[in-house]
Amino acid sequence: MLRGRFAPSPTGPLHFGSLIAAVASFLEAKTQAGEWLVRMEDLDKPRVQAGAADGILRTLETFGFEWDAEVVYQSQRGELYQAAFDQLGELIYPCSCSRREITDSAVHGIDGFIYPKTCLNKPPKKHIAPAWRIKTADKLIYFNDAIQGEISQNLSTDVGEFVLKRADGIFAYQLAVVVDDFIQGISHIVRGADLLDSTTRQNYLQMQLGYCIPQYAHLPVAVNAAGEKLSKQTLAEPLNSTNANALLFRALHFLGQNPPIVLEHAPLKELWRWAFTHWSLTNIPAQRAIILTY
Ligand code: GLU
Repeated sequence: MLRGRFAPSPTGPLHFGSLIAAVASFLEAKTQAGEWLVRMEDLDKPRVQAGAADGILRTLETFGFEWDAEVVYQSQRGELYQAAFDQLGELIYPCSCSRREITDSAVHGIDGFIYPKTCLNKPPKKHIAPAWRIKTADKLIYFNDAIQGEISQNLSTDVGEFVLKRADGIFAYQLAVVVDDFIQGISHIVRGADLLDSTTRQNYLQMQLGYCIPQYAHLPVAVNAAGEKLSKQTLAEPLNSTNANALLFRALHFLGQNPPIVLEHAPLKELWRWAFTHWSLTNIPAQRAIILTY
């Protein structure tokens, strides 16, 4: 059975950028008689905003989304991440380098600095809680994205040995997402292209843990005129539920689905009905970002 998911981080209310990922992942699963789950990615406690998770679920409900299983909270699943972490055994090593030490000696990769492996072959400093990194291999990893096409990366030279558990004990997104997608039986991942560059890290972990690799479709991300992703940091407006039908219309339009203009002010149910019969992943523009013009 096809199973998709929407995995918001409750660091603030839903905005138009998150609506796009919710709409696309929902329609892609439901139009193929699949299931759609919601998972709260609330691991990074310092960034979680009190009440945001409940607010996100209420907003999803007012937009007419329905999920097929109880909502899962990553903050309650530490034992599962620890078990996967332990399974990786020899591939993992402690690192007590400070941010400063890394920035002083490292080169830039596609997502931050490439760790110079300072701690790989020496014991970490005493009296400092270490972060934990995973060794990577010097070879290309490929995957075929249903929207963006073939993507390849060499983790060693493009990303470096990345952190799976932070010095404060919090498991990294890259590990948690892979464990959850596997345990929840997610077969199709539809999410923003801001995560395209994370996917090979996730594929690498899936291979090391013996998990099957889901199919991926990375959506163009909504950006403002300055090219910044809509987010709490760029002060994206929270979704206004009283305007749900117009916002859903705009999301479908953004996703290249061309909803007829007469539906712009139609009741929500009617718009969903149209979306269910006309949804096509192939209509989504193969771009990493689209500037919002309204
Ligand atoms: N929690 C991530 C976010 O809100 C999404 C993770 C994912 O879909 O893999 O950006």
